Amino acid sequence: MSYLPFTRPTIDEETIQGVVDVLRSGWITSGPKVKDFEAALSDYFGGRTVRAFSSGTATLEVALQLCGIGPGDEVITTPLSWVATANVILHVGAKPVFVDVDPVTRNIDLTLIESAITPNTKAIIPVDLAGLPVDRDRLYAIAHKHNLRVIEDAAQSMGSTWQGKKIGSFGDLISFSFHANKNMTTGEGGCLVLSSDAQIPLTEKLRLQGVVRSPDGTMEVDIAGGKSNLTDIAARIGLGQLPQVDSFNARRRELVKHYFAQFDRSLGCELPVEEYSNGNWHMFQILLPLDKLTISRGEFIEQMKQREIAAGVHYPPIHLFSLYRSMGFKEGDYPHAERIGNETVTLPLFPTMTFEDVERVCAAIKEIITHSKK
Ligand SMILES: *Cc1c(COP(=O)(O)O)cnc(C)c1O
Repeated sequence: MSYLPFTRPTIDEETIQGVVDVLRSGWITSGPKVKDFEAALSDYFGGRTVRAFSSGTATLEVALQLCGIGPGDEVITTPLSWVATANVILHVGAKPVFVDVDPVTRNIDLTLIESAITPNTKAIIPVDLAGLPVDRDRLYAIAHKHNLRVIEDAAQSMGSTWQGKKIGSFGDLISFSFHANKNMTTGEGGCLVLSSDAQIPLTEKLRLQGVVRSPDGTMEVDIAGGKSNLTDIAARIGLGQLPQVDSFNARRRELVKHYFAQFDRSLGCELPVEEYSNGNWHMFQILLPLDKLTISRGEFIEQMKQREIAAGVHYPPIHLFSLYRSMGFKEGDYPHAERIGNETVTLPLFPTMTFEDVERVCAAIKEIITHSKK
């Protein structure tokens, strides 16, 4: 039996050949392939203007800078995300304000946002955890009422939809990641969907050292931009991935349907929201009934590993990392995020998995939990 990872990119031969061609072309950093990739992404997002970056983290940070957010400003976000979501707020000198998650969707609880708004609040960064979209209607209603910017951290929701519209095709600023584990990848990379073409010059300056080139070959710099451009090598991978992302996601939905069909619900695990229509199923995460078990989550994961199955943890709540504790956050601040962060396990899910793999995972979980009931 071969080892089953919890995720694995799907890269076809045509894409591999395309990367080889870029390597042979004499131009491997940002160039024609990045432009093609940005145009293809723009088509995917219904014609919105898109710029490619070297990571989703860089994209989020540039989005904050485009909104003029810095010291003295507060940004509302979820404690249950990859730490990048909050780190970028610190990076621009602003203050992260966490709002607990809804225990069912595991996304930021929209009913709690308004009580976290202060005169210093400038923006909300919602995260579509596991690709399940945050309610965009309610989110934007709150943002408009309080005159807040929205930077959608859609790192995990490429191809997800809200009311039939693709995430990224509407809304304020939308950030995606193409990290190797995401539903489509460029190895490392990301993109930002802009709210207006007026943002293009600043976006490009922030992306590459603040440099503006004139047709006569001269250049000018008036801000200290960063360095987060994408390479043509990576863009070529993205050009091979983008036409397939919807079929990758369809395959994920089929596999998840099989998980729901096969999973023994009497084991006491909490399953994700069971709908396979508007999410892209970036991850399939169960919550372990730890209070009824004699083993810890670490031991559970170890026993899965002994059966040649990987399981991940996404995510420990951000506010309990030592950096955030040193800022005053503590246990008990966001009880739902803490409970989910303690109990969550990410099961294998990727397009080239088989139904038999799903059955193997479900059987392993049943065996482990049945043998470790209190
Ligand atoms: C992956 C991810 C990021 C960061 O993307 P990188 O491309 O790894 O920088 C940010 N937020 C969320 C929710 C993510 O899953």
